[in-house]
Amino acid sequence: MKITIYNEFNEHHKTGKVLQAYPKGIHGALKDLFESKKHEVKTFTLETINSITLDVLKDTDVMIWWGHMNHQDIKEEVADMIAEQVRLGMGFIALHSSHLAKPLKKLLGTPCTLKWREIDEKERLWVVNPAHPIAKGLPEYIEIPHDEMYGEPFAIPTPDELVFIGWFQGGNVFRSGCCYQRGYGKIFYFQPGHETNPVYEIKEIQQILLNAVDWAKPVFRANEFSCPNVESLEKI
Ligand code: ZN
Repeated sequence: MKITIYNEFNEHHKTGKVLQAYPKGIHGALKDLFESKKHEVKTFTLETINSITLDVLKDTDVMIWWGHMNHQDIKEEVADMIAEQVRLGMGFIALHSSHLAKPLKKLLGTPCTLKWREIDEKERLWVVNPAHPIAKGLPEYIEIPHDEMYGEPFAIPTPDELVFIGWFQGGNVFRSGCCYQRGYGKIFYFQPGHETNPVYEIKEIQQILLNAVDWAKPVFRANEFSCPNVESLEKI
């Protein structure tokens, strides 16, 4: 399938602990993962995302988004165009600090705020819906040695389906894997993945991402939404 990845990859990502965790950037690590399963991958960063075209989006089955410091730098019309393509059927996966990404907030319509703490604590990610396609092949829980804590209350609409709950060593819990449908498009928010912790190199986390793109790919895709006036089928 055709996957388009956005990772903001600002100056902070090209040095120190972030560079150590992801030498090719988070987009590079994810690209390698999806290409290993024969998916066709395009990548965008902060430098290029505002010039993404409608044609690229229409040719994308699933868009993956990782952003943090630069949410406000995404042009409103670009975020609107992405959100509309999701409603028309494109899949959308928002990772970690993308809970505040403009396209996701436009789709969910709530503040999407949460608590956070960055002390490299352990997270135990519990599979709470083992029958869900995104949980296929996973153990009962996954231990992530170090990640940023995200805690409830998480200001999201009640998920259509909840797949994961994260427990953190410091005592907090979080709805870490949330599924939605908006229009014809599927949306998955997935909490793990702070940029200084190479969480996306963990085998089970990679399995979740691979399952998630399979789940989110379009089943039906429309070109537009309209309210047509139609003829009756029977003679009246
Ligand atoms: Zn983070």
